[in-house]
Amino acid sequence: MLSKNVCLDFCMPEQLIISISGMRGIVGENLTASVAADYGCAFGSYLKSSSAGEKNKGLSVCIGRDSRRSGQMLCSAVAAGLCAVGIDAIDLGLAATPSVGVMVGCLKCAGGVVVTASHNPIQYNGIKLLLGNGMAPPGEAAEQIKQRFLDKHFDLVGSIGCGQMASNSQADETHVNKVLAIVDKAAIAAQGFKVVLDSVNGAGGAVTKELLAELGCRVSAINDEPTGLFAHAPEPIAENLTGLCEAVKSDGADIGFAQDPDADRLAIVDEAGTYIGEEYTLALAAKYVFSKRAGKAATNLSTSRMIDDVAEKAGSRVIRTPVGEANVAAAMLQHNCVIGGEGNGGVIDLRVGPIRDSLVGIALVLQLMTETGSSVSALVDEIGRYYMTKEKFPADREQARRILAEAKQRFALATLDASDGCRFDFPDGSWVHCRASNTEPVMRVIAEAKDQATVQRHIDNMQKIRTTAGIH
Ligand code: MG
Repeated sequence: MLSKNVCLDFCMPEQLIISISGMRGIVGENLTASVAADYGCAFGSYLKSSSAGEKNKGLSVCIGRDSRRSGQMLCSAVAAGLCAVGIDAIDLGLAATPSVGVMVGCLKCAGGVVVTASHNPIQYNGIKLLLGNGMAPPGEAAEQIKQRFLDKHFDLVGSIGCGQMASNSQADETHVNKVLAIVDKAAIAAQGFKVVLDSVNGAGGAVTKELLAELGCRVSAINDEPTGLFAHAPEPIAENLTGLCEAVKSDGADIGFAQDPDADRLAIVDEAGTYIGEEYTLALAAKYVFSKRAGKAATNLSTSRMIDDVAEKAGSRVIRTPVGEANVAAAMLQHNCVIGGEGNGGVIDLRVGPIRDSLVGIALVLQLMTETGSSVSALVDEIGRYYMTKEKFPADREQARRILAEAKQRFALATLDASDGCRFDFPDGSWVHCRASNTEPVMRVIAEAKDQATVQRHIDNMQKIRTTAGIH
């Protein structure tokens, strides 16, 4: 029975996870062709029900995938599910998540699907959903889609009404052109930047090389073949990028870029071959955008306050949101933000799309280097440095609630934002954010300060609070 394997609240890694950002599971165990087809039926049925009055207009959904070898199988299954409920499916083939987002708008689709497990290990795959506005479904919509999937509440059609399948190979070119439109292509090209790109054998290789060629960069690409057999662990964090760091150094490159397998996250290596940390990606992109455009930024509560510093220098400010790309994008739309994203290397520029986009990050950072004439390390020095530690404590929802209640008492003098767990901001500029995970029975604790001792003190305090709350 499927329901036994479906995780609704807390999940062990081996279970099928259905969350606000879609479905994720282990291929051949809980993520199979029939599960993917059902999910396609559920998503298509939801789209039909939510587009009242347009039922006969021939709704379509475009589908892209990262390079995992199970991608074609799952794409075909999702497409079959969509067609079974009367939705036309447009196969984009191998495509970065942000490229699919761009194509949803360009092809005027009712929605988009990306078959990707992002940075998760190779045995995983996932199905990420986008609505017609290019954003992940908000909570209520995600809940309706999940319920339709679990109940098999599908609006199946007969032979005449079946959706049709088509393919479209314009995703890369369309995406690149949208990104080029937000920068000064000629000015960047005049610099002749030397770039090393590590696409971890994911979906980003071809489209990003196309962008960098347009920007006149001399590119040395590693792990750029989309084999789906990742040359290193796919999360773009320091320990996985030693090869990129060495390549930047040995090539004498100006900058190194690392993507995750679906190319929505971007990490940067400076000209000395030093990994600067994903938190700098958004701060650097924002630094350029603020120098040209007036407006606010939006980011989630767990992101470094570097972006607040950058915004303050530009006379702007930052809107903080609950964790989740859709929350950030919604706040950006609501407040007309000129830049946004997440500290994990996800940059969002609404002129391209309401979705994290490593190509946008690359273009904006190269434009910043062009305008300032500064090296990456000099730009990082200008922004300054914070220390951040991310921990997770075992805690179920009830335990997490007790920890947060105790923390509120303990940190009564701090400024509290309780829109997603609790974020406590202290007078010295340091902060700690604690929230229950949506996908695991853990509490995530993130602390940041100007020095490591203060960060450790915050983490230790949270440990003590956990003990005081009777959780061991
Ligand atoms: Mg990703």
